[in-house]
Order: sequence, then structure tokens, then C-alpha cells
Amino acid sequence: MPKPVIELDNVSLRLGEGASSVHVLKGVSLTVEDGQSTAVVGPSGSGKSTLLMVIAGLEKVDSGTVRVAGQALNGLSEDQVAAFRGRTIGIVFQSFHLIPNMTALENVAVPLELAGHRDPFGLAERELAAVGLKERLTHYPGELSGGEQQRVAIARALAPEPAIMIADEPTGNLDQTTGRQIANLLFETVRERGTTLVLVTHDPALAERCDRQVAMRSGLIDETAPEAAVAG
Ligand code: ADP
Ligand code: MG
Repeated sequence: MPKPVIELDNVSLRLGEGASSVHVLKGVSLTVEDGQSTAVVGPSGSGKSTLLMVIAGLEKVDSGTVRVAGQALNGLSEDQVAAFRGRTIGIVFQSFHLIPNMTALENVAVPLELAGHRDPFGLAERELAAVGLKERLTHYPGELSGGEQQRVAIARALAPEPAIMIADEPTGNLDQTTGRQIANLLFETVRERGTTLVLVTHDPALAERCDRQVAMRSGLIDETAPEAAVAG
């Protein structure tokens, strides 16, 4: 039986101060089933990245409820949300967000070490090998290509075995061929592990590879957009 792993109910959020504040999410409701892949599409500024931040607990909502992996995020303290996120959610960004003065191995291992993992460097090495970077463990991000840097970011995101992977335009900074390779890697790894994927993308080909597409427009889910049926 499918069970919901992400449940947003009538979520509203303003960002910024005073007169320049923006009503970014205007009553968004969204349910994502466990193991499903969902593409979030829509024009620039429609609130896609903010929606991902809400799912990750990186933005607190003004009203509405957010439940992720059975946990209501609304009532948690910042420390509780951070601990929850570390266990439950892996994040990949368009611009990789690696730490420049750490090697590939350290980028993956250090967060595991901070989380109290038994064998952070062993696990990091296995995860980097799994994304094809066995020969790049001691390279710094500046010594890696964009595609390689995104592989490190994917290894880092997946190493703690999160239930949910969120990816914000993960191929947006890559050329087409490399982008396709990274997309293949992302889809293969989440499928193997049964990880729920929420992916923001401007690439229709990438969106179509997801089980489902959700369109956003001006801070709302666009109910008039044809939502792709669950792929058979
Ligand atoms: P998308 O990812 O779809 O391009 P975003 O979620 O990044 O959209 O942003 C949605 C809207 O919220 C944009 O109009 C953006 O300018 C605004 N916004 C995002 N973050 C802030 C912020 N910290 N303060 C004020 N406005 C913001
Ligand atoms: Mg965005």
C-alpha cells in the first residue's frame, strides 16, 4: 500500500521584511507517496525552491501544516529540525555546495562523522565508489569537473540513507551530456534504495522521467496544468 511520506496542507509563507516581503507560498497542499519521484516544474520565481526548503525544514511556514516521514515539523525547535533533516533528507543543489577546502572524501565523511556514524570514512569511500569516483577521493572540488562535483554531492546526500532526496535543478549547471549522466545516476540510486525523490527542474525530458509532475505558478500548485499520471 502506498503511504504518504510528505504531506503539506495549505502551507503559506512570506519571505523578507515589511513592504518588500513576498508572499512566496500561498496555500500549497501536496502529498507525495513513499518511493515516488515527483518533478516540480514552473516558471522562475514561482516558489519551487522555497517549497523544497519547506520540505527540508529549512524554512518555517507561517500557516498550514508540514508532515515529513511521519513527523510534524511545525512544532519542532531548530535543533530538532536539524537532527530530523540529517536523518531523513538528502539535498542536492544546482551549484553543488561542496566545501572547497575539503577533499571529496572529507566532503562526504565529515557530515557523517558529525552525525556520530561509526565508520564515516569507510562509508564515504564506498559511496564515492558507487558514484564512480573511486579515483578522485583526495581531489578538492576545484580539481573536479562540474559533473564530478555533483557526483560528490549525490554521494554526500545519499550516504546517511535518507528516506527523501530533494534536488534543486541538479543538472542546471551541467552541459547536456553530463546532465544526462547525472540524471541517470540520480534516478538509478534512488530507485535502488527506494528513496523518495522530489526534483525541481526546467528540463522537460528530466521531468518526464519522474512518476509525477507538479506545476507551480505564483506560489500555488497550478491545478490546471496537466499533471502526468503515475508512469506505468
Ligand atoms: P523558484 O525556485 O521557483 O525560482 P523561489 O522559491 O526561489 O522560486 O522564489 C519564489 C519567490 O520568492 C521569488 O519571487 C523570490 O524573489 C522570492 N523570495 C525568495 N526568497 C526570498 C527572501 N529571502 N526574501 C524575499 N523574497 C524571497
Ligand atoms: Mg529555484
